[in-house]
Amino acid sequence: MNKIIVAIDGFSSCGKSTMAKELAGEVGYVYVDSGAMYRAVSLFSIQKGWITETAINADELKKNIESIHIDFKTNAEGKSETYLNGENVETDIRSLEVANGASRVSTLGFVRHELVRQQQLMGLKKGIVMDGRDIGTVVFPQAELKIFVTATPEIRAQRRLDEMAAKGEKANFEEVLANVKERDERDQNREESPLRKADDAVVLDNSYLTREEQNNLLRTLFNKKTY
Ligand code: C5P
Repeated sequence: MNKIIVAIDGFSSCGKSTMAKELAGEVGYVYVDSGAMYRAVSLFSIQKGWITETAINADELKKNIESIHIDFKTNAEGKSETYLNGENVETDIRSLEVANGASRVSTLGFVRHELVRQQQLMGLKKGIVMDGRDIGTVVFPQAELKIFVTATPEIRAQRRLDEMAAKGEKANFEEVLANVKERDERDQNREESPLRKADDAVVLDNSYLTREEQNNLLRTLFNKKTY
């Protein structure tokens, strides 16, 4: 069976990672969460004091971009976790503050350039499922299977809220919805690699699909490309 590259792009909190992870697990591919890499850069910048409510110290970040090393390791339960300069940051990068910072640092060309370079290296041997915003358009324009995932902002906010509640984190619906919309706006309107559907991507609106229905759909598309 031919190994391919699967690129899954779409809006924030639309279940991309869940479907990407499950497909990768089923077919024995490597899963890469590219958003976690932008989140790690955001966390690093917050820790250094380079991101404030109103500004980003892009000069300092640029000078230090090569000292940011991000990798993924599989834990004892088989779950991939993000490491920043050797430290497990999987929990820390999931906060709203880090998510907001990620959508801001991801507008910087030099950040994108460095992370895209690292992502392309990860895909050299194919057999990879990567999710993000620019995977089918910029990172792997040659990907054999491209999916563009979408769902309404309200449904995505509710899913995000449920995820946070499951982890014992508190937030209210309006706050999360505003955050989802703000990130959509920034992702779609930034100059560097804005979020858009690749011409050859298949649109998957999962607003009213169960997780199982969505996974089955994705698996069918994958099988068509590989058999
Ligand atoms: O997917 P996730 O919400 O974890 O991504 C965090 C942020 O990183 C997004 O808001 C988006 O701005 C940015 N991102 C990006 N390009 C990617 C993946 C994520 O710009 N390939």
